[in-house]
Amino acid sequence: MRLPPKKIEEILITVLGEVGKPLIKELMSKQNISEFDLATRTNKDIKIIRKLLYVLYNHNLVSFTRKKDKQKGWYIYYWTLQPESVSFSYVKMKRELVEKLKEQLASEEKELFFVCPKEGTRLTFDQAMDFEFHCPECGELLGQDDNKERIVGIRTQIGQLGVELEELMQVRKNRRKEVKDKRKALVARKKKIVKKKVVKGKVEKKAKVPVKKEKPVAVKKASGKSVAKTASKKK
Ligand SMILES: [Zn+2]
Repeated sequence: MRLPPKKIEEILITVLGEVGKPLIKELMSKQNISEFDLATRTNKDIKIIRKLLYVLYNHNLVSFTRKKDKQKGWYIYYWTLQPESVSFSYVKMKRELVEKLKEQLASEEKELFFVCPKEGTRLTFDQAMDFEFHCPECGELLGQDDNKERIVGIRTQIGQLGVELEELMQVRKNRRKEVKDKRKALVARKKKIVKKKVVKGKVEKKAKVPVKKEKPVAVKKASGKSVAKTASKKK
């Protein structure tokens, strides 16, 4: 599943912060890019680049290969972004958010809330009762909070996230099917190749019968070679 580049960038920035923006841009434009190239292109110190790369690596968002520099004798690391992992952690994050919102919605629908008219301190019924329905911050009498709008807001958010997740899942499904179909096609092709080989094998077996007559010739040739070898050794 691949997200649009803008979204990938947005997610990566939430991981690295704004400092990582130039690095993210470079990683998104090329694969297998050496950390020295990354440092040069982003105009940043190699130590900073390494630090950022390790953060991404710890989130499974990049992979690397390394090659030994024959002249200098050390390893150079080449980094590649893993867009699949980016979307995976994005989906995970959104799912967690949906769960949180659902819990919040349940509590908003189940409980009564009280609010301070002065500065908006919000308490549950039990909490408000503990303070005898007076604000713990300023002492003002609390009023019951009308949370209808809040509930509508949470519901809307859950709905939007649900649509987005469904779209992402559809993309993932389509991609999985693509991969599956490709694999099937590959297996089918391999089977064909094996069949051809089997047919060829039969042909060769049949052909071997007349070839047998020629074998003594081949033996003669071989002995001729060995003679030549021993002859050269004597020299
Ligand atoms: Zn208050």
